[in-house]
Amino acid sequence: MMLDTEMVQRIECKCNLGSAAVLVGDQKLLFIFVDDDGAGPWTVELRQPVQIKIERSLRWLEDKAQAFGIRLRFQHVCIPFGLSVACHAGGCIDEADYCAGPGHLIWQNRVVTGLTSSGTVASRWDDLFRAGGLPLNGTEGSAVVFCVRRWVPSVAFAFFEGENVEFERERAIIYDNGGEAGQLFLDSLIAHELLHLYGAVDLAPGKTPEPLKEFASQYSDDVMHTPTQRSIECYCIGDITAYLVGWLKTKPACLAQTPI
Ligand SMILES: [Zn+2]
Repeated sequence: MMLDTEMVQRIECKCNLGSAAVLVGDQKLLFIFVDDDGAGPWTVELRQPVQIKIERSLRWLEDKAQAFGIRLRFQHVCIPFGLSVACHAGGCIDEADYCAGPGHLIWQNRVVTGLTSSGTVASRWDDLFRAGGLPLNGTEGSAVVFCVRRWVPSVAFAFFEGENVEFERERAIIYDNGGEAGQLFLDSLIAHELLHLYGAVDLAPGKTPEPLKEFASQYSDDVMHTPTQRSIECYCIGDITAYLVGWLKTKPACLAQTPI
């Protein structure tokens, strides 16, 4: 999910911004499992199937990039490690809040403080990746994905011009209950949200931003078509999505008359 205003601004600024800017080359992702007061805690048994789907989703995106002649290599880590299954948000996460801040920022900062030291997610970004065993060298893209137990649409906070610079360090929240009770097609949902972070927009007649509306119905197999109600193998990445995430240099013919 992505807010309409974000989608329109993303399209109008014609470029992807933030730490997850272009989906090419090396990308480092931290998946942080978070408990809160709104659901029971993550367990090893609940966390494991989510991690398998994360893996499937990332390998699928790499394969799709390769089909466009793009080298894409994800490195990812799921934290916390060891005996601790999840970090605690220190309160209840409001799953109906689809704004990047301030609501989500408060608990996200608490989680990061627990993993590193006090500060905001953005100010502790490098420390956070280092603590996760995935140090940044400044040449790669990066994003954080919080995994929270719920049964609601997930959300990606892509950064766009004019937004609070804190969110230049881009992040998403994957809501899932884990295992049998989880989202049936979590692998395609994860790919969908990650593509949002890197600039893709929803491709569904009711959700697509105006300049793309007339083309949306042609992309029912695109993983950006919503809702994602099939296994990831059933989806493709069409030329509009490929163009928006940096896999196509030239604008698809169907967009020739649009301002994108
Ligand atoms: Zn979406």
